[in-house]
Amino acid sequence: NAHQKEVIELLIRYYETGDLSLFDRYSIEWVKEVAAPIDFINGFIEVYGDPLAYKASWESVVQIMDEEACERTRKLADNAMWFERNAPIDERFKKSEVVGITARVVQAAMLGGDCHPATPIGINLPNAEWIRERYGSKSVTLDNITYAYDRASLNSGVLDEFAYSDEEKELVRTYGYVGGNVHTDLHECLGHGSGKLLPGVDPDALKAYGSTIEEARADLFGLYYVADPKLVELGLLSSDEAYKAQYYTYLMNGLMTQLVRIQPGNTVEEAHMRNRQLIARWVFEKGAADKVVELVKKDGKTYVVVNDYEKVRQLFGELLAEIQRIKSTGDFAAARALVEDYAVKVDPVLHAEVLERYKKLNLAPYKGFVNPKYEAV
Ligand code: ZN
Repeated sequence: NAHQKEVIELLIRYYETGDLSLFDRYSIEWVKEVAAPIDFINGFIEVYGDPLAYKASWESVVQIMDEEACERTRKLADNAMWFERNAPIDERFKKSEVVGITARVVQAAMLGGDCHPATPIGINLPNAEWIRERYGSKSVTLDNITYAYDRASLNSGVLDEFAYSDEEKELVRTYGYVGGNVHTDLHECLGHGSGKLLPGVDPDALKAYGSTIEEARADLFGLYYVADPKLVELGLLSSDEAYKAQYYTYLMNGLMTQLVRIQPGNTVEEAHMRNRQLIARWVFEKGAADKVVELVKKDGKTYVVVNDYEKVRQLFGELLAEIQRIKSTGDFAAARALVEDYAVKVDPVLHAEVLERYKKLNLAPYKGFVNPKYEAV
């Protein structure tokens, strides 16, 4: 449409000149354009790959709205204020109003740059905090990608190898896909957009730890709310047991299985992986006295066992409150301590075990997608 033409022209002028103020104007027009059924993401966007969090890598996605599935995110966006008001965080850090949340479920039509061949499953942009606060943000959940991941995982053997008992396997087979999708929606559509900085706090105060803290904040928002009766009430989840599948796979991944992506001897570097380990290790440690989550040995293999799902939710809420405080006040020292203590280090014995068990499954640690060929008609 005409508005998109304007958006694209701003982007081209930015690429031609490198003028960052043009990129801001492009981002603002891009957020405001909400009518087109086909949309795109394009630019030097994420700094996850740069330890200093300055240099962004180039990425692009072209996506088609899935009107029917958008019902899901529309319900969340319509209730954004309810979620903000009821979040387990300090009142001082809550937004008094939530502006311009556009959340969609889409089918990825083409992936490029850092989104190809491995791709995110959800994206929320722009990253500039001042644009988000003034103009809002757009979120997408890439439905055909999560669907493909789910299909591929059903018979990959990972669940059989790493889930503790038939009970967890059944739980994940029944609710894993829907629970994961709702968690992604919550993370992208509400999590990143929630909360606010106290006046005068530098948005870059957390420096190299900023990306990990921000991803942890959005994930915790999703984890806390995926267990809320509100989601069953809104018709987004069919059962109040569904969240347990998401909790189990999240903790299993953060404590164990994501280590398959790390070479022996290395530490966890990527922001999302750090965030998942941070959350899982923190909950594991804080709940240790009550045996909320355990690592249990069976036939020489380590398994994650969740003994008290409600307590896990409570701990997610407590960590969310602390992470929100860190972001809202720009507490660099606390961010560094949390990340360095929980998110970076790898237990070499457990790591070797995970690699060994994965080797037998003969699976690649990352999956990639092949772009289709399109013909203009
Ligand atoms: Zn995120």
